[in-house]
Amino acid sequence: MKVLRTVTMLCPCCMEEHAVQTVSVSEHNIFRNVPVEYDAEYFYCDRADETYADEQQLSSNDIAMKNVYRGKTGLLTSHQIAAIRARYGITQGDLCLLLGWGAKTITRYESHQVQDIAHDTILRKLDSDPEWFLQLLHAEKDALSAASYARYMETAAVLFEQDHDLYLKSAIMSRYARFLQNPEATGGKLLSLEVVVDMIRYYANSSMVTGLFRVKLMKLLWYADALSYKRRGRSISGLVYRALPMGAVPVAYELIVDLSTIRCEEIDMGDGTGYRFLPTENKEYPYLTAEDRGILDAVIRRFGMTSKSMIVETMHREDAYTGTALNDVISFRYARTLSLS
Ligand SMILES: [Zn+2]
Repeated sequence: MKVLRTVTMLCPCCMEEHAVQTVSVSEHNIFRNVPVEYDAEYFYCDRADETYADEQQLSSNDIAMKNVYRGKTGLLTSHQIAAIRARYGITQGDLCLLLGWGAKTITRYESHQVQDIAHDTILRKLDSDPEWFLQLLHAEKDALSAASYARYMETAAVLFEQDHDLYLKSAIMSRYARFLQNPEATGGKLLSLEVVVDMIRYYANSSMVTGLFRVKLMKLLWYADALSYKRRGRSISGLVYRALPMGAVPVAYELIVDLSTIRCEEIDMGDGTGYRFLPTENKEYPYLTAEDRGILDAVIRRFGMTSKSMIVETMHREDAYTGTALNDVISFRYARTLSLS
């Protein structure tokens, strides 16, 4: 028995006013054939040497017992269910509506009622899948108030983007794992996606860069990293580039350009889709140093207004390109003879 606090009050045991302790007691119980041990709270009257629980304590002791049971049987606890709902900022009633459950179901699960396994699985899926939440939300749009719908939509969209970026980042980093011990490939820099995103935004936000489509962007990134290596012996981003027919292309570029912090629009080019990079609202580049920006500016001065085909042509004349077999990784050794300085 542990004393949590002492308060002078009308004692419910001896019915006299005195200092009554609130105590925590370790209880052992059996719930649905599972032995559970949990901490329960009671009032303790030292005069009568008796414990007593008011309604609120009875209720929270019951929830404490069931949460231990839920934990032991691998079910979400009432707090975890409440936390999942809080992530989406949705009311208990509206979440029931989305899931097609009785209106009070979530309210009960967040307190005394232990959920069944099927519902537990659905709540876990909800926690890990904001895209699914968005689908459910969309399906029940008419049943929700416009304000609630908009609010839920915004919260879930942010979660979805974060999840999506997290997934992309780990996929990109896993593609780079094999280059960790190869400074000639990485330019002696550990890949930083924050830096890469800042570089792309720096180019996209520059009024001196025109027609920033994928091929041009890839070249601008390579030129900046190669120039950085030439000047300082290390690249800016840590990207690894391969020699493709149109010049240098970073490993996993198709995942990199999908990061939500980069803005891109698809343009129908007749013979296919073009991807143009757009300015972002955010014009801060916390991951670029003044020296990094100086290097990017040098690349912009040289190639900002240059057409894609001219940049590709220039790249094709670089030793880095002529000295590398098609599809091979371009070594930063070649930066020494880069046409830019
Ligand atoms: Zn008493």
